[in-house]
Amino acid sequence: MTQSTIPEIVRVRYAPSPTGLPHIGNVRTAMFNWLFARRHGGKFVVRVEDTDQARLVPGAVDSILDGLEWLGIDWDEGPRVGGPLGPYLQSERLELYRDAAEKLISRGNAYRCYCTPERLAEVRERQRQEKRSIGYDRHCRGLSGGEGERLLNTGAPHVIRFAMPVSGTSEVDDIIRGHVEWQNELVDDFVLIKSDGFPTYHLAVVVDDHLMNISHVLRAEEWLSSTPRHLQLYAALGHDPAQYGHLPMILGPDRAKLSKRHGATSVLEYRDMGYLPEALENFMALLGWSLDDHSDVMTLDTIKQEFSLERVGKPAAIFDITRLDWINGVYIRQLESERLAEEMMPFLERDLPQGAAPVDRDYLLRIVPLIQERLKVLGESAATTSYFFAETLDYGEAKLIQRGMEAEGCVAALEGASEALADVESFLADDLEARLRAAGEELGLRPREFFGLLREAVTARSATPSLFGVMEVLGRERVEKRIAAAKEYLEGT
Ligand code: GLU
Repeated sequence: MTQSTIPEIVRVRYAPSPTGLPHIGNVRTAMFNWLFARRHGGKFVVRVEDTDQARLVPGAVDSILDGLEWLGIDWDEGPRVGGPLGPYLQSERLELYRDAAEKLISRGNAYRCYCTPERLAEVRERQRQEKRSIGYDRHCRGLSGGEGERLLNTGAPHVIRFAMPVSGTSEVDDIIRGHVEWQNELVDDFVLIKSDGFPTYHLAVVVDDHLMNISHVLRAEEWLSSTPRHLQLYAALGHDPAQYGHLPMILGPDRAKLSKRHGATSVLEYRDMGYLPEALENFMALLGWSLDDHSDVMTLDTIKQEFSLERVGKPAAIFDITRLDWINGVYIRQLESERLAEEMMPFLERDLPQGAAPVDRDYLLRIVPLIQERLKVLGESAATTSYFFAETLDYGEAKLIQRGMEAEGCVAALEGASEALADVESFLADDLEARLRAAGEELGLRPREFFGLLREAVTARSATPSLFGVMEVLGRERVEKRIAAAKEYLEGT
């Protein structure tokens, strides 16, 4: 990457368009800006770019901000918190963009364009047929002053276009991509103000990045091709541009553009599936940045201390959901039992069958150590633990009869188990194991058969954490009831 000097005051921004849900790519951009600001003691600004009225999605601003809040990505200025350089919604700043456009017209850097959509379509069609590059043909740039005034006075609908220099180059030393140059003649006279009076992204972004004193524009690579426009706008307005850093693209493991089939699209969906915010952040930090050549799991403190644009690479980052699952599992295993119980609680209340909630917190705290190793996402909480909470089990789904055994033998074995359990005083895992091992031998059963049967009887599953640990947590009453119920079920089959 190109060496950049970090100015004394770092001010960066996340500028989402509320045209949909906050997907991972957007939030990764927010996170990198935030990390950069925090690392350099700067300010992180959120600015909502809501000038494309046709594409606004109701509720999108709140989802975007809720997503950031959930992740603990706090902003110093922006919606919900205010700040000295607001408003932070572009739709509330229209005056500023109109002023800038008028200034550009008066300086000869912009002009009104009255071309109808039909004419523009014809121009495009001709360019396509003649295999020329597609773009506005600068027709209205050549209008005489008198003709322009006449059209303005008729109230004809129009847009305002930027008069792009027709020669020379636009150049940037991008912090991540290095030196990039464009031929100005290849960039057409783009629109600054649309016929509805709203600015385009290009005008609004330059006006606001200047007025909000943004020092670094760290944004997705897809915006790199817009940079010559922005540089020329800065020059025409007489402002110094910010430093640019275009963050690498994010692709799926199949190297296709990230989409629903690679995982959830909204960051809030990850919350609802039960990913921990710190795990998702760890995962997102690695979408383009790395601490070194090997570290996968690192705390947010480490990331905050070590984040630097020098270690943001150019190649596309690969979004691999299996890596996120793995990282999330690591974070879950590291949690204190209390915190894990607390995190699981809303998922259990959401997903356990009716009647199981409210969940007893102390009971849950005893379940946690048994399942902590296995849980990858909190959204699996109910599925992983439902047998602890069920009033009755569905033996129709279970495989009570063990290989090599008959129903009758199983009934006898369950009776033997009940008798053995009746004289276990403590009902602690170790004592249960010792007593049941002995009982199994007395019954002439192999451990696989006897314990397999008991596991099915008390959980209706064939794979669970340690049978004796599970029995201890279930407690005498539930275990006895379940063994009796399993016996009854077998007798009825
Ligand atoms: N509003 C643009 C977006 O949604 C932001 C581009 C930029 O950061 O300049 O991606």
